[in-house]
Amino acid sequence: MTPEQIDQLDWDKQGGLLPAIVQDADSRQVLMLGYMDRAALRATLDNGKVTFFSRSKQRLWMKGEQSGHVLALVRLETDCDRDSLLVQARPHGPTCHLQRASCFADAPADFLAVLERRIEARLAADSAESYTRRLLDKGLPKVAQKVGEEAVETVIAALAEDDTALRNESADLLYHLLVLLRAKDMPLSQVIDTLRSR
Ligand code: AMP
Ligand code: ZN
Ligand code: ZN
Repeated sequence: MTPEQIDQLDWDKQGGLLPAIVQDADSRQVLMLGYMDRAALRATLDNGKVTFFSRSKQRLWMKGEQSGHVLALVRLETDCDRDSLLVQARPHGPTCHLQRASCFADAPADFLAVLERRIEARLAADSAESYTRRLLDKGLPKVAQKVGEEAVETVIAALAEDDTALRNESADLLYHLLVLLRAKDMPLSQVIDTLRSR
């Protein structure tokens, strides 16, 4: 956002504050609503960490300043009449102080992106407790082989006209594909960008 675009925002409408909706850049889940004054917007753009004007603290508040659960800025845009902001960010931990991903407890999210993040988190898990961790520990050829097996099982279920099996095998296939992408360090978002561009 250029200084000119910032000047054109409708700062006068609500006493120098604009409501800012924060959305997870990957899962598209709505995470929280905050307010930005000019200084907060400036700080957000300069530091790449989402910063609000806290109405209760009456000062700039960088989300995560105590918890470390910062929101890394990905994209910021205004709406049709320039009186509100949409902020896309990558959260470094739960955004809500109640340790939930979103302040709106049941805000819908793209589940594949949530699952991708869950798989990432399993890397830190104990291998005794995590199938994902054990699978990744076996190495890329084993992970790739599992994708092949699940693909074959999906095809068999489809041809057998067994809807329950098709649902289960498709779920297994998607999960194992995400594990394979993780093993190859390829973000799901790149795959989706490729699909979009076709
Ligand atoms: P944090 O910015 O995560 O370090 O949290 C600092 C302070 O802001 C704490 O006092 C929290 O209770 C409060 N807080 C954190 N996250 C939120 C949120 N999403 N909405 C409102 N208040 C919050
Ligand atoms: Zn508007
Ligand atoms: Zn909250």
